[in-house]
Amino acid sequence: MAYPSLFHPDIETLSPGNLAGLQNLKWEKQRQYLAENSRFYGVKLAGALRRELTLDDLQDLPLTDKEELRASQEGNYPLGDYVACSPDKVVRIHRTSGTTGRALILANSAKDAEVIAQQGARGMWASGLRPSDRVVHCLNYQMWTGGLTDHLTLEATGATVLPYGVGGTTRLIEVIRDLGINVISSTPSYPALLEKTLREEFKLKPRDLGLRLALFGGEAGLDNAAFREAMEETWGFGVRNANFGLSEVMSTMGSQCEHTTDLHFLSGDVVFLEILDTRSGQRLKLEDGASGELVCTHLEKECQPLLRYRTRDVITVTGAQTCSCGRRSFRFRVTGRTDDMFNVRGVNVFPSAIHKVITSANAIASGHFRILLNGPGPYDRVNIRAEAAEHVLQDDWRGIARELEKRIRDTIGASADVDIVAFESLPRTDGKTSLVERV
Ligand SMILES: [Zn+2]
Repeated sequence: MAYPSLFHPDIETLSPGNLAGLQNLKWEKQRQYLAENSRFYGVKLAGALRRELTLDDLQDLPLTDKEELRASQEGNYPLGDYVACSPDKVVRIHRTSGTTGRALILANSAKDAEVIAQQGARGMWASGLRPSDRVVHCLNYQMWTGGLTDHLTLEATGATVLPYGVGGTTRLIEVIRDLGINVISSTPSYPALLEKTLREEFKLKPRDLGLRLALFGGEAGLDNAAFREAMEETWGFGVRNANFGLSEVMSTMGSQCEHTTDLHFLSGDVVFLEILDTRSGQRLKLEDGASGELVCTHLEKECQPLLRYRTRDVITVTGAQTCSCGRRSFRFRVTGRTDDMFNVRGVNVFPSAIHKVITSANAIASGHFRILLNGPGPYDRVNIRAEAAEHVLQDDWRGIARELEKRIRDTIGASADVDIVAFESLPRTDGKTSLVERV
């Protein structure tokens, strides 16, 4: 069956001018809603929301960060005083994974949950999922939004979804073969574990599973062409960065289409974006090459609406014109995180930049590595433990280490000390893998 190429064509083809018009209309309603219902913003903004305030005027208001939300929840446990609807409207609660600091409690109304599912479906559709597909969802369902909420976005496309969760890799391979699953949704690091299990327990090659599409999210690294091509070659599936988002704002608001490896920002009708210069904090014009921290304001949210929320993600705009897929939304890459960034002798280093260098050297390194940071910094050099590629002899490790150090210095401008370890000696995980270990 032939399906249309866009999920919400009326929204996805809106010109920037028409989108701005729609955003202004929605914001006016949302502003009044916040003014009447958000105690948190009532205090924080000292009544500013009670007056006329355009999206352009938001620049004069302070930012909101995650620490404030944590403090709000500690003071008004569990949902915080930034909740703007009555408790009986809440239909679902999630918790963040809480890898840095205390977990946040995320609450949604039925309307919020429907918006999230529709936005996510728009993205999964852009990445190639169709109702004829059978997709197995391998993210953590235990309280985390990546589980149930992302499951429901996959389902909203009309595809058949199998809730699998994490772990149980041997059984997963049996299920994929038994039920004719042709699409997998997981973290990009998971196929490495799947490949190992296929080889060791089934004597099978990845291509034998017959998967046609992989929908990834949750980790950096997919912007790297070498990593992506190696995975497509090994598996025979299309690799899509399908699932960029933040559970506080919108689970899925950026997805790759089939014409570019960059992300489309697809949620302009419900989330207003600002890109702020990381030094001056000034709003940047949304044009090719603009690079700064992504800041989000909800245009339609009942339960925990946010205004000028700092995502800590640094993005770079890579395409402001209409894409060949027909979508009008701009394209971008996530180029770092302001809270992961560390300083090596005056050079700002993002772990994602080191990931790119190491995965590009795929003839000598497996692509698995950890950055070891000792103390709060700034650092003289960056210590890295990296795996050799398969079949590399131990005699060559020293030479490989020097080569990687040179490439990091040439590309990033920071000195590195690389320590090579054996292939498959770093743990493969089925959840989020942190590239940085603080020692
Ligand atoms: Zn496109």
